Amino acid sequence: MSSDNHYEVVIIGGGLAGLSCAVRLAEAGVQAKLLEATDRVGGRVRSDVVNGFTLDAGFQVLLTGYPSCQRLLDYTKLHLRYFEPGAMLRHGGHFTELADPWRNPAKAWSTAMSPIGSLKDKFLIWRLRSKTCRGTLPELYSRPQKTTEQYLRDFGFSEQIINQFFRPFIGGVFLDESLSVSSRMLEFVFRMFSSGGIAIPADGMAAIPRQLVEKLPSGSVNLQTSAVKLEGNRILLANGTSLTGEHIVIATESNAAARLLERPQIQTDWNQTTTLYYSAPKCKEGYKNLILRGDETKVIQTATVISNVAKEYAPPEKSLISVSLAPEKQPTCDETNSLVKQQLTDWFGDQVNQWELIQTYQIPFGLPKLDLASILRSPEVDDLKSTYICGDHLQTPSIEGAMDSGLRAAEAIISRRATT
Ligand SMILES: Cc1cc2nc3c(=O)[nH]c(=O)nc-3n(C[C@H](O)[C@H](O)[C@H](O)COP(=O)(O)OP(=O)(O)OC[C@H]3O[C@@H](n4cnc5c(N)ncnc54)[C@H](O)[C@@H]3O)c2cc1C
Repeated sequence: MSSDNHYEVVIIGGGLAGLSCAVRLAEAGVQAKLLEATDRVGGRVRSDVVNGFTLDAGFQVLLTGYPSCQRLLDYTKLHLRYFEPGAMLRHGGHFTELADPWRNPAKAWSTAMSPIGSLKDKFLIWRLRSKTCRGTLPELYSRPQKTTEQYLRDFGFSEQIINQFFRPFIGGVFLDESLSVSSRMLEFVFRMFSSGGIAIPADGMAAIPRQLVEKLPSGSVNLQTSAVKLEGNRILLANGTSLTGEHIVIATESNAAARLLERPQIQTDWNQTTTLYYSAPKCKEGYKNLILRGDETKVIQTATVISNVAKEYAPPEKSLISVSLAPEKQPTCDETNSLVKQQLTDWFGDQVNQWELIQTYQIPFGLPKLDLASILRSPEVDDLKSTYICGDHLQTPSIEGAMDSGLRAAEAIISRRATT
């Protein structure tokens, strides 16, 4: 079915959506060529190694409950390292632990008594957890929806827990503290946090796309190959050549998909983020929690001693600290480090003077802002025969959203082939 420039399927974009689509097609024996514009696969899931530290390009975690990850990834080979469930919150100038009493019953009492939120709030968290774990994911995605802020208020949560826990927590997940994201996405995230662990691979998040590539026949991926235009089943490339596919999958981020398909309606606005990494002398405390800003409203949204979770992220005598900034409070480049250091010194004292900035990742195109209607859009492009679209903008802006949408595009092609 293939010649030098003709393929059964051509996938444009080597992020998690495109790779998942390619893996599913390979499993079904369908020959596919994947084109990736940059010099590596993974898209927004990228890791760099700098002076012996592993730095993910923006703080990211894998929720092991993600169904598509369970389906496509070998967790054992990823050597996953786990965060402690729950979080440390800043409250009244101190850290308070909000543990997950379902997974750590020994901390049930201290969590019930913690000053974050009322007893009613803690009961409601239990109710939210039970509600989000009921039914299938497609059922969850079809529930009535409103903004997360309205949903939490209607659920009965106090302003305190909304502002001190949900805003930085959900804000950190969707890079948007306004809580305007759909309640379906809140339910999805809560379900994922409840149904598995919070993990990072020992070799960095980029181990995830690397593992997907290993499942593909060799020669399936062309790096530094950018698609610039579609003409029916022909794809024109930036290097002046072209290739054709019986089926074409657009697995780029939303704005590139809009350009390729000449459909501006696919374009999205974006939530941005900034992550800074600091090298520190080896920390004595072994906290493996996520730290949330709690009642503080300065620049930091979340922080973590990431080498406490995965010691492989730092050389043996060092610790690696990851700090992400509140999306609405992105300072200018020049002042970022000093503002962050001031706040870290308030939190951890003079030891912060010894911490050295390793790298700052400013990520303007972090996550697509999706309107309330977006979840689970069809992978088939209206009016265009044999053209499919996938990516996190079609579903939830997450690893699961990207991988599941890639799988769904592959399934659509497999069933189309079966009927023709
Ligand atoms: C800072 C940050 C933190 C995150 N944290 C989490 C988290 O903790 N948990 C979670 O589940 N999710 C998280 N996410 C979201 C998750 O990483 C993304 O939703 C997912 O990786 C998107 O994958 P994708 O394949 O849809 O898109 P992308 O990763 O954007 O992939 C698109 C690919 O298409 C390529 N491309 C574009 N145009 C062309 C072209 N013309 N020709 C060829 N190739 C092209 C691009 O180079 C890119 O490789 C985070 C994202 C960011 C940025």
